[in-house]
Amino acid sequence: MGKDRDMQCSQAQALIQTFMDDNLEFGQMRGFMKHLKSCDECRDEFENRFLVYEGMRKIESGEDFNFEDEVREKLKVGDAFVKAAFRTKAALAVLIAVVAAALLCYRLGIFGL
Ligand SMILES: [Zn+2]
Repeated sequence: MGKDRDMQCSQAQALIQTFMDDNLEFGQMRGFMKHLKSCDECRDEFENRFLVYEGMRKIESGEDFNFEDEVREKLKVGDAFVKAAFRTKAALAVLIAVVAAALLCYRLGIFGL
């Protein structure tokens, strides 16, 4: 575990607003989600700010607001984003390997072309 490569509290808290706006990039999202899972302080900070941010929005638009559900949903979306990005990266890596192998075979005349 690369401890010093992990996100610091100050970094995580600086990303809360961007996370709520759904504007985190993959690398930031991954670090942010990881940090929130291991740091109660930042999770509390996130929940407080999310309550204010999302609560105000929902009250203004007259929608129902179930804070527990909303927080869980928001974090699930973050998790799904990280997982989906991982899958996409893995699929791309496989594709590139296959194409590279095919090209190599072609150049070496393995297909008899
Ligand atoms: Zn923290």
